Amino acid sequence: MNEHLDKLYREFDQLYRDIGIICAGCKDYECEGYVWLLAEEAETLYNQNIPIVEINEDMHFVHSFEEVDGRILIDKPKPPCILRANGLCTIYGIRPLVCRMYPVGFEYDDGLVRLVLHEDCQFARELQGEDRRSFFQAVIGIFQSVPQELIRRLNDEYAKVYGISIFPEGPNLFEAIASIDSLLTKGGDEHVKVQTCTGLHQGDQDHRQGEEVDRRDRSSSLKS
Ligand code: SF4
Repeated sequence: MNEHLDKLYREFDQLYRDIGIICAGCKDYECEGYVWLLAEEAETLYNQNIPIVEINEDMHFVHSFEEVDGRILIDKPKPPCILRANGLCTIYGIRPLVCRMYPVGFEYDDGLVRLVLHEDCQFARELQGEDRRSFFQAVIGIFQSVPQELIRRLNDEYAKVYGISIFPEGPNLFEAIASIDSLLTKGGDEHVKVQTCTGLHQGDQDHRQGEEVDRRDRSSSLKS
């Protein structure tokens, strides 16, 4: 495991050390969405017999997609993660960064990849005022504590994932914490604004419809 990625893991685990009290009352019994992975995370999970899908030979996901006649349906939004059972993550100790960060995540907005706080989580909704501002600073500090090369990789990886992602209808509420660009150039010191996105990112949707996506189930191809 990349030592800097491991540091991000530990920093987010520490940031959310008390979140269990809120999670215990959560009625949202599914983890849904594209669980995308850096290459080394995919390797780690694959070595633990977790089914991984590789798309276009450079994007990796936990394989929670539906399959029809051997074809993986990546165009069904928000597949429930197959690694959750009885309301718990079955790979909790080795879960990837995207899971450890939640409700912080990445969003593509106004031409930039941004770190955001998703408002569909009870923890986020309860985080208000000065606590929210401190939390944002802590998140920015975490990303400032790792080399920029890793931040760039995350930025590039998310941009690729966004390019093939399908988003469900309806509101996607989040507050921007900082753009990745600002983390790289100004240390994350930028104006924080509230974003409310509704519906699909239609332009990207149109682009995706015309693109040839090579879908391969890496787990089965490697096991054969
Ligand atoms: S790996 Fe675990 S935490 Fe991540 S989406 Fe799946 S069940 Fe949830």
